[in-house]
Amino acid sequence: MSTLNVPKPDFMQDEELAIFENSVIRFFDEHAPPERVQRWRDDGQVEREFWTEAGQAGLLGVSVPEEYGGAGGDFRHDVIVLEQVVRKDISGFGASLHNCIVTPYVVAHGTEEQKQRWLPRLCNGELVAAVAMSEPGAGSDRQSIRTTALKDGNGYRINGSKTFISSGQNADFIVVVAKTDPSQGARGVSLLVVETREVEGFRRGRKLDKIGQDAADTSELFFDDVWVPAENLLGMEEGLGFRQLMAELPRERLAIALQSATRAEMALAATIEYTTERKAFGQRVIDFQNSQFKLAEMKTQATIAKVFAYHCLDLLLKGQLDTATVSMAKYWITDTENKIIDEGLQLHGGYGYINDYPIARLYRDARITRIYGGSNEIMKVIIARTLGQ
Ligand SMILES: Cc1cc2nc3c(=O)[nH]c(=O)nc-3n(C[C@H](O)[C@H](O)[C@H](O)COP(=O)(O)OP(=O)(O)OC[C@H]3O[C@@H](n4cnc5c(N)ncnc54)[C@H](O)[C@@H]3O)c2cc1C
Repeated sequence: MSTLNVPKPDFMQDEELAIFENSVIRFFDEHAPPERVQRWRDDGQVEREFWTEAGQAGLLGVSVPEEYGGAGGDFRHDVIVLEQVVRKDISGFGASLHNCIVTPYVVAHGTEEQKQRWLPRLCNGELVAAVAMSEPGAGSDRQSIRTTALKDGNGYRINGSKTFISSGQNADFIVVVAKTDPSQGARGVSLLVVETREVEGFRRGRKLDKIGQDAADTSELFFDDVWVPAENLLGMEEGLGFRQLMAELPRERLAIALQSATRAEMALAATIEYTTERKAFGQRVIDFQNSQFKLAEMKTQATIAKVFAYHCLDLLLKGQLDTATVSMAKYWITDTENKIIDEGLQLHGGYGYINDYPIARLYRDARITRIYGGSNEIMKVIIARTLGQ
């Protein structure tokens, strides 16, 4: 039963997509049962083996063209996977990062040789992808990154440290954002691929102790004189890094917004269920007028979030989603998600604070969405730039 009365848009309703969605649901039911997922949360990391299983089942690289080992789908297939990761409560499995962020860098900006070399292995689960932008001293301000990749013989020598890197423990394919020309700002930035099994000087640091997304292996990474061949420079031309990152931002930010809209809907459903069963002062909690007003507000906000997310998805599929519009979606939907979950938790009383209840994990998992993928303050900076244009 759907909690919201927002029909799937026409472009999401076709038989092939429904078959794919069923296969994704079946895969998670079989391979990610609650006790296994709980083990990943306890370990702070999804098992590496699960990535291989997901690759073999066709859940990785779903929008990569078939000629490179992908499923030949499009972003709608990515959306199905990322939505089911949330619905099945396996936050921490970085399929969205792998499918919607990193792999598309190779599809869009890799040379033919790079596509042939990497994409089949990114699709079959042999490689787990990460992107290493953030540094201890450079988060929102990407231009101030200090990691360098300086020409050395037929390749580049990478030096620097990165932090907050999702899939940092499992990743064996890391797109490193580095300065190939430290004398330049944005124009000195390039993207270099480090295949961790093939280099010396690469070290994984701490798996960071977070307040949510327990199974996500967000980590520090260190690069000490790591040498990679020139063939690992994405696109084989220096100084394109910023442009390459920017070109892919609408899809990345929409992926976050779509997941947040789904979590908002789940929070509403969990709260309706709980308040219907819980009694206080001889009546159901849902029968208090305050509860009804709060739930009415939550439902309205979750509906608007979903409709706007679908609108942006429609624009993206038509190649018309601009940076300011997706920034509105990312900022507003993640803010709204957090508000809805907070109100839902309040209506659970003390049980909302106990991790046994889904609303508690939603609360912890959702908090980061306002910060990563470009903080919501940065989203407003981007939107504000278009004012008066
Ligand atoms: C769980 C998790 C996963 C992550 N995954 C990755 C990953 O896979 N790869 C990766 O590279 N990074 C990743 N990050 C890092 C994330 O992208 C950064 O945390 C984020 O970009 C913010 O940077 P910062 O933490 O350095 O904050 P800062 O940039 O120091 O910002 C601090 C505060 O200042 C505000 N601020 C900054 N600049 C402005 C401005 N111009 N105007 C107004 N306000 C401003 C920010 O909004 C924020 O509120 C992850 C982080 C977390 C916690």
